[in-house]
Amino acid sequence: MSLNNPSSFGKHFGFFRFGTLIAFIFAAWLLFSSYDEAGNGTTFIQGRPVPNTKITNAICLSKTSLKLEWLPKNNIDGYILVIKDKDGETLKRKKIDGANVTSCVVDHMMYRKVYRFNIACYRKRITDIKKGEFASEDYRTKLKVTDRYEHGYKYFYDWDGNRLTDTLEFVNDKSDFEIRTNIKACVTTVYAKDGDRGYTIPVKVWLSSPSGSNTVSGVWQLGAKYRYRPLFYGTNSQWAVRIHDEILFHTTPYNNYGDNNSLDPAEYNKLGTAASHGCIRMQCEAVKWIFDNCDNKTTVVIYEDDNPGALGKPELEEIEDWHTWDPTDPTATDLCKERGCHQIPVISVK
Ligand SMILES: [Zn+2]
Repeated sequence: MSLNNPSSFGKHFGFFRFGTLIAFIFAAWLLFSSYDEAGNGTTFIQGRPVPNTKITNAICLSKTSLKLEWLPKNNIDGYILVIKDKDGETLKRKKIDGANVTSCVVDHMMYRKVYRFNIACYRKRITDIKKGEFASEDYRTKLKVTDRYEHGYKYFYDWDGNRLTDTLEFVNDKSDFEIRTNIKACVTTVYAKDGDRGYTIPVKVWLSSPSGSNTVSGVWQLGAKYRYRPLFYGTNSQWAVRIHDEILFHTTPYNNYGDNNSLDPAEYNKLGTAASHGCIRMQCEAVKWIFDNCDNKTTVVIYEDDNPGALGKPELEEIEDWHTWDPTDPTATDLCKERGCHQIPVISVK
């Protein structure tokens, strides 16, 4: 998508393609309302918004920071960067003095959160506040990465040298995977195919809860998928995919069928330890990803090893006992937003 193409901007954001939005977009919003701002003896008078200064580039420096660049404007005194969330709520405003300044670094952003940016121009005692617009492509397609082969795997690193653990965007073939669940380390890693090298590109890693003894090693192919699925002892799963026989990938247990706000937090907090009756429990995000992206017949390898897998073992962020929904559940983001418990960014601008 061109950065400066309004029709492409509208096409992408006008219809709120949430699937894409979730995929780590940093986006901007062309405001059709203007605002007043006063401070330091400078008065801004509301005027007709004119699309003017354009953000020309967003260079991802790491998972949580990016550099914005924009076109300079003449006859102004500086710029105002406005950072909004995807619903248009303002998270931060930053005044940037000087017409010659054409970039800034935004950091401490929340990974995977959607942002909108806009650069307004200001002039002392002016009558117009001029608005800019920007729409970035998917964050990951703009992230500068380097890849390296190590220990037989292909890894990706960001600008800061951090090894990335969610790397599907950099893989050519996004349709052919192997899922490997290590029931000793309680970790599931997804590997994509690297041509003749086989399934050697780790693209996803999730905490898992198998059973202490009822989950057995072996190689299977994925079977039936369920949007909701009753489990043992009157509990329920959102999303489930059969591995073999009565063994499924499913979410941590919910008390009520079809109710995303009836999760048992204590069971959720056991993720990464053996806790199930035989199935492989994972977060909603993980099971839903398999549900959405893996064909029936995708190979599932269940094995035991001290080494968790190519991407190590993630840490669990435990939830409180009032948090009766899975913080990774894309259908429950409003609950987190109401409480302010997850996905609240703290942003700074340099
Ligand atoms: Zn939350």
